[in-house]
Amino acid sequence: MIVLKFGGTSVANAQNIKLVLEIVSKKSQNNKLAVVVSAFSGVTDLLLKASNEAASKNESYKVTLEEIQQKHFETISNLVSESHQKQVIETITTEFNQLKTLLDGCFLLGELSPRTSDAIASFGELLSSQIIAVALKKVVSDSTFKDSRQLVKTNSNFGKASVNFNVTNSLIEDYFKSNTSKVVLLPGFIASDEKGNTTTLGRGGSDFTAAILANGSHATSLEIWTDVNGMFTANPKLVKQAQPIETISYEEAMELSHFGAKVLYPPTIQPVLKANIPIWIKNTFEANVNGTLISNTPESNGNPVKGISHIEDIALLTLEGSGMIGVAGSSKRLFEVLSKENINVVFITQASSEHSICIGILNNDADKAKNAIDETFELEISQNKINPCIVEKDLCIVALVGENMKNHQGLSGKMFSTLGKNNVNIRAIAQGASERNISVVINKNDVKKALNTLHERFFEDNTKQINLFVMGVGNVGEKFIDQIHQQKKFLKENLKINVRVIAISNSRKMHFNEDGIALKEWKELIEKGEKADLNAFISKSKNLNLRNSIFVDITANDVVASIYDQFLKENIAVVTCNKIACSSKFDNYKNLKNLSRKYNAPFLFETNVGAGLPIIDTLKHLIASGDKVNKIQAVLSGSLNFIFNNFSSTYSFHDVVKEAGVQGFTEPDPKIDLSGIDVARKILILIRESGYQMEIEEIKNNSFLPEECMNTTNNESFFASLIKNAAHFENLLNEANSKNSRLKFVATFENGKASVGLEFIPQESPFYNLEGKDNIVQFYTDRYVDQPLLIKGAGAGAAVTASGIFADVVRIGNL
Ligand code: ADP
Ligand code: ASP
Ligand code: MG
Repeated sequence: MIVLKFGGTSVANAQNIKLVLEIVSKKSQNNKLAVVVSAFSGVTDLLLKASNEAASKNESYKVTLEEIQQKHFETISNLVSESHQKQVIETITTEFNQLKTLLDGCFLLGELSPRTSDAIASFGELLSSQIIAVALKKVVSDSTFKDSRQLVKTNSNFGKASVNFNVTNSLIEDYFKSNTSKVVLLPGFIASDEKGNTTTLGRGGSDFTAAILANGSHATSLEIWTDVNGMFTANPKLVKQAQPIETISYEEAMELSHFGAKVLYPPTIQPVLKANIPIWIKNTFEANVNGTLISNTPESNGNPVKGISHIEDIALLTLEGSGMIGVAGSSKRLFEVLSKENINVVFITQASSEHSICIGILNNDADKAKNAIDETFELEISQNKINPCIVEKDLCIVALVGENMKNHQGLSGKMFSTLGKNNVNIRAIAQGASERNISVVINKNDVKKALNTLHERFFEDNTKQINLFVMGVGNVGEKFIDQIHQQKKFLKENLKINVRVIAISNSRKMHFNEDGIALKEWKELIEKGEKADLNAFISKSKNLNLRNSIFVDITANDVVASIYDQFLKENIAVVTCNKIACSSKFDNYKNLKNLSRKYNAPFLFETNVGAGLPIIDTLKHLIASGDKVNKIQAVLSGSLNFIFNNFSSTYSFHDVVKEAGVQGFTEPDPKIDLSGIDVARKILILIRESGYQMEIEEIKNNSFLPEECMNTTNNESFFASLIKNAAHFENLLNEANSKNSRLKFVATFENGKASVGLEFIPQESPFYNLEGKDNIVQFYTDRYVDQPLLIKGAGAGAAVTASGIFADVVRIGNL
């Protein structure tokens, strides 16, 4: 015989039940079957809601009851042929009358005892099983209905009764021996005590009913049919990359379900484990998929970790004090009181000093537990030997599970460092003596991030997911998005980096998609997006709390430059081409660097100097390897270089500057380039990255712009002033020609002093032949004394800047 159990979603409506009947009818051709069904999806919750409403004298229980009734009658009309409807409607109406009487009673008394609560909750399975039994009869005529309460006997611990296996097993054995039907249909979850009162086996307990029946009837296998393709490596609702586990041992499955893998109710394994009955977890909606096989002989796939599970809504209780040390029996008293209060302990750790003991329980039990514990240790607390019990709520347990973990070293190290890198704070740790699980307690709002990073670390071939929050999609930003789009596949396959853009914003609109924005249509998506709002952007990015998040600033905006700290503090890396932050007050620059270190969030700004050229990265390596920068000489403005390279007697200064703007070589405000401020900012950043402390005001700016141009307040008047002062620029050019030299805007740092300004560069200088918009930097260091280390190449332009930003993102991906 085979026992099949179909869960709430599998029997949610007539359409799904038809799939169930197909599976049952096919299986029944070769096997005798016991089929256990849950209540229709959501019905148990509604029943409990109605009973609580009634008990608190809230008339809305009638509306809830109406909703339950409607669900059932609708299913009947879509499932059962008209000729059979009358009979089933009669049966179900009688059940509803009884249910209504119970609820009315609760309402009148304003009271709900655990016994009544179970009686009411049992209607979910009673109704579903009787309706399905009628429909089954049409498909398998040799089928019958049996009320599980007559077979499964429990104590009177209502809400989660304990099974009396001696009595139950013989009742089941006898029943199936004498029953000849091909298919027996039974309700899950419900049982009865010695006095015949209805009891329930705990939420999710239909799985357990099926296991009890499988054991008692000596079934050859137990099949749990649900709405997913098996037991997954992690909860598939939270971890998109989770995969079904092919085979797993009873113990591993038990551990995973104990730590929250809801797909299997934890007590389910026990009865079948003893009898060595294999369990299959199968998907009603994809019946042909293999699913998961739980047995004594799982095959190994080489990965010592089988799965990751978690329990939300956990509270940690800590009992500590000198009175705990060496006093035999404090733990015993602690656990006794919890057991007396019927509080389930999920997690225990004890410091070896015995000074404190820490236990994890469900949030809902926390207040009750604290009161009971403080009462038990009242004397010690009054004598200051033990502190009142400390309660921390809204935590979550995450557990790594695997039979073979004990044979592998360093797994816990890997687990903790993975979480640490993502700034997930671990509040408590426990490792079972069997080493079949390592569990940690963390904050509830870190759970999704923790599960996904751990899953990535242990199951995804080390592919690292990078989540980008991009601010600014102008010239450079657009190129950046295009480059990601093009390289996505390559990065995934070759560098094992999966780059996703989660948010994009320009100054008008922004668009978020937690699953990654479809890059081929980002322009339409942002147009259709919500109104841009910097604060909303920040809080949304933080609240998503995704692992390996990077804020990418592709603006030249000072307000955007002032928010980096808010990201870094949340362990969100910052990549920026915006120079404002790094060239602001030294304290601010230093603070950002410190935050980056403290919160383990990279802060990279390679494109602040020389666009995509690897200048800052090279400098970092020099410093890290112990070199010291003594002198820097550089042409750092691609825009000024473009301008002075093209400026000639036939191409006016004004026109060249205009053209540089059109080609995207200048800042949106060209005065920032022409005034020398931009170059001053760049050399300042190089000086600071070399390890010196300096402020922008300390850099001497030998500006070549006449006063009048400097004093303009907008682009229009600035350009007008360039025409007006044309003679000044022509004089500069003539002087350069007469000296046989070229005009270059040079930044210098030497002897602790820095300056920027236009210089006449003689032919023999390496700066003389600097073409187009190229940049050049010469570092004179302790190691590069006579011949400087020289970096040269295109130092402006949207594509190279975008690729520099991209390189920073990849650097973080490779960390
Ligand atoms: P049923 O109503 O069929 O009993 P449940 O809702 O009780 O179904 O259990 C199935 C659900 O368990 C899945 O839809 C999934 O969201 C959740 N789940 C949590 N952890 C896991 C896991 N590790 N593997 C599979 N499913 C899981
Ligand atoms: N219907 C019950 C519940 O929702 C039992 C089950 O579905 O397994 O908890
Ligand atoms: Mg279930």
